[in-house]
Amino acid sequence: MFPLNQGATPTQILQGIADGTLPSPSRKLYLTHTRRTLMCEGVRVDEEQLRSSAQRAPEGKMFVYECHWHKEGSAPCGLWVEGLKISMGRHLQDWHDVSIAGKQKISCLWGKCNKEMNEESIARHVGSDAHLSIKYVCSTCNVEFAREDAFQRHRETVAGTACRTATATILHTGRNVRVIDSRTAFGPSAA
Ligand SMILES: [Zn+2]
Ligand SMILES: [Zn+2]
Ligand SMILES: [Zn+2]
Repeated sequence: MFPLNQGATPTQILQGIADGTLPSPSRKLYLTHTRRTLMCEGVRVDEEQLRSSAQRAPEGKMFVYECHWHKEGSAPCGLWVEGLKISMGRHLQDWHDVSIAGKQKISCLWGKCNKEMNEESIARHVGSDAHLSIKYVCSTCNVEFAREDAFQRHRETVAGTACRTATATILHTGRNVRVIDSRTAFGPSAA
C-alpha cells in the first residue's frame, strides 16, 4: 500500500485495485491523483510511458506524436503520445476518459476525424495508419500492413509457414513523428 500522491504509477494502482490492496472507489479518482508528466527533449510526455520506454526500448528510443484528441472548443491535452496502439489506448483512457474496452459508439475526436466506431476499436484506429502513419512490416516477407491486426491475420492465414513466426517491424512514416530518448527525462543517472 502506498500513499496516493507519492509516485504510484497507474499500473501499480490498477494492480492494487485488482489484488485488493487498494480500496477501489474509483479508478478515475486514483488516476487524477497520480498521472504525471515530464518534459523530454522539448515535448511533454506521460511519465509512465517515458519510464516504460526507458526500460524497454533500445537506447530509450521513443517515437512520439502530438495528441490531437480534443472536443470542439476545448483545449488539447498538450501531451505527446508513444506511437504504439497499446500506448495510444492507454493515453485515451487515462487522459480523455475513453473506455477502451467499451462497446458504445463514439466519434473519433482526433483532429476533425469524427468517424464513428465502438470504443473498443478506437485505440487500433488512432494508433495506426489512420492518424499516425504507422506501418507494420512483416519481418519475413516484408509486406506492409496498415494495422497490427492486419499483420496478425497475415501471420495466421498466409500460405506456407515462414511468416507464421514472423514479427512486425513498426515503421513511422509520417512527418509528425518526433524521436526522443526517453532516458533523458530521468536525468543522466538513469541512462
Ligand atoms: Zn491527449
Ligand atoms: Zn479518427
Ligand atoms: Zn509475411
